Amino acid sequence: MTSTHSNNDTLFTRAQLTTPGGVNSPVRAFRSVGGTPRFITHAAGPYFWDADDKRYIDYIGSWGPAIVGHAHPEVVKAVQDAAARGLSFGAPTEGEIEMAEEICRLVPSIEQVRLVSSGTEATMSALRLARGATGRDKIVKFEGCYHGHADSLLVKAGSGLLTFGNPTSAGVPEDFVKHTMVLDYNNTAQLEQAFKDMGDQIACVIVEPVAGNMNLVKSTPEFLHTMRRLCTQYGTILIFDEVMSGFRVALGGAQSVYGITPDLTALGKVIGGGLPLAAFGGRAELMQKMAPLGAVYQAGTLSGNPVAVAAGMSTLKLIQAPGFYDALAAQTRKLVNGLSAAAGEAGIPFCADAIGGMFGLYFSPDIPTGYTQMMACNRTRFNAFFHAMLEQGVYFAPAAFEAGFVSAQHDDTVIDATIAAARTVFASLH
Ligand code: PMP
Repeated sequence: MTSTHSNNDTLFTRAQLTTPGGVNSPVRAFRSVGGTPRFITHAAGPYFWDADDKRYIDYIGSWGPAIVGHAHPEVVKAVQDAAARGLSFGAPTEGEIEMAEEICRLVPSIEQVRLVSSGTEATMSALRLARGATGRDKIVKFEGCYHGHADSLLVKAGSGLLTFGNPTSAGVPEDFVKHTMVLDYNNTAQLEQAFKDMGDQIACVIVEPVAGNMNLVKSTPEFLHTMRRLCTQYGTILIFDEVMSGFRVALGGAQSVYGITPDLTALGKVIGGGLPLAAFGGRAELMQKMAPLGAVYQAGTLSGNPVAVAAGMSTLKLIQAPGFYDALAAQTRKLVNGLSAAAGEAGIPFCADAIGGMFGLYFSPDIPTGYTQMMACNRTRFNAFFHAMLEQGVYFAPAAFEAGFVSAQHDDTVIDATIAAARTVFASLH
């Protein structure tokens, strides 16, 4: 924790006067790790710099979008060119067609797609579509999965199995969440029981097929395949929330890794290349229930914004370079192996996991498989690790229960520097 005065302190004090908590999205505030958030002035490749001109190796990548590295020249050029042609028209553009065609080509379960501006909008709209298409109200989500901040999805598990949830936020009426059933991630038997009890009332199951909002937790194949089978059997819509895992764990997302075809998919983060762009899509027959063709309403002043589409298209082009995901996965694996070895040398109970360009660090002897196990990780030790790494110029997610992200610009020099810093830090953690 910084005790010496810095420009970050000054900015944080100033920010808190006009912005609640000084930030525009809660996790940026360092509330769970303590200390002063770093105010970022600029970024390039795998690095960003704070208001004191300190450079950090960045492992959040804007929480996922920066997969090709910050300020990639091709993305910046595409954005500049698009901006010069006009910022927003409120009328359709050819770029939106190209983006839709590209998404449909890369994610075969998506036959039609609607562009929106945030992951929250994507999942919220997918949920409405599922309810509209089935005429059912109940939905299933899993504890520890985050799907944005729409009312029905800000729900934590109720007490006991198979109960409906409680709001996790003030301002969400009980009435809104009484239709949301919260089950345990990776608990196949519980899911089967829920369908047995009320499958014909469930509009949709929404899941992060690779969870990245309770640190990183992979689904077991059995869990997802059972989910797919049950949804088909009961006429329930299966929504994969791939806002984080899409174009991150593999070019085709988690659905390509597990070999599962969801009915609807939510995308975000990478597809906007750092600008506000997200999407939801699926079978054409389902998507055509959306307005203006169908009765399910959804709209957006800036949906399919031409500058965001330009950033997204140039990012989608870059990630299709031959060997892109092999290299990304190899660097990510190198990082987590190096960190695990460094912790082992220091005798710290620690493990790490990775898939594609996404990773999890756990201060626990075993890799967690769900929310309860994740909560058992040593948070105090994570916080000490986080601050010591920050001091060393390495910026991990400022909370113990967040996943990390590697970009294509995290080369051997960057990964080796991170591991060297971690060796020093782990040795100091006793
Ligand atoms: N779904 C998942 C899986 C996410 O990780 C996030 C954001 N972290 C969202 C939805 C919400 O996206 P946004 O922050 O763009 O609203």
